[in-house]
Amino acid sequence: MAAPLRLRATLALVTGGGSGIGRAICTRLAEEGALVAVADQNEAGAAETVRGLPRGESGREHEAFGVDVSSAQSVGELMARIQARFSTPPRVCVSCAGITMDEFLLKQTEAAFDKVLQVNLKGTFLVTQAVARGLVESGAPGGSIINMGSIVGKVGNLGQVSYAASKAGVEGLTKTAAKELARFGIRCNVVLPGFIATPMTDKMPPKVLQKFAGMVPLGRLGDPKEVADVCVFLASEESRYITGASVEVTGGLFL
Ligand code: NAD
Repeated sequence: MAAPLRLRATLALVTGGGSGIGRAICTRLAEEGALVAVADQNEAGAAETVRGLPRGESGREHEAFGVDVSSAQSVGELMARIQARFSTPPRVCVSCAGITMDEFLLKQTEAAFDKVLQVNLKGTFLVTQAVARGLVESGAPGGSIINMGSIVGKVGNLGQVSYAASKAGVEGLTKTAAKELARFGIRCNVVLPGFIATPMTDKMPPKVLQKFAGMVPLGRLGDPKEVADVCVFLASEESRYITGASVEVTGGLFL
């Protein structure tokens, strides 16, 4: 007998759902019965993700949305469009939109530093706040907010001063949200991937990637699906007593 679906008829929002880890998360959530709002700055990527998703039992359709998570106005419009389309706020939210603009500290420009913080940290703040407000206003308790940090936010990394700072911020933001939102039954957790093979890591020099793969105790880079499986667990009732946690998905890197 097939295992019961863990997220049957649950509306889930995934930002950064048009590529890499976000796309894999959309797929796993849909496989577990969730209805997925796939949001990305790259609307074509989001639409491609939707085309690849399994249809829900209810026959209702997943939908792609364009959003710039670093803009409060754009995030507000996204929430309004989701409400209009599905008549409910998302009960699961995975903030996966993120960028890198790697440079050594001595060479990092102010503009690049600001841009990375705006997307990765402020974007996560805006989406977390908007989703939490929607859930609280709906009056129905519950919800699971999952933010994408990085192991680099904990240990630092050469050439990633802005990225590491932004991801450390995401971890602090999520732990604070967990404390404030627990009384509404909303859980907030942060996932810290190590090095996962996606278009983001494709930008890194192959020599650097090989070096990192060699440092991973499990001996390889991660697959986006391996991060997505953890997100499904955190989205589901199986993790009902877990909030404010940082879950490392690194193959043992930097233990
Ligand atoms: P990716 O580049 O494949 O996907 C990132 C997505 O975010 C893209 O579709 C992009 O269009 C979208 N995006 C960027 N800026 C946006 C904005 N302002 N508004 C809305 N969408 C925007 O990268 P990925 O590797 O899949 O990374 C996904 C998340 O996982 C990121 O937050 C990243 O920092 C994190 N992460 C990745 C790794 C890794 O090794 N790949 C490791 C740790 C953490």
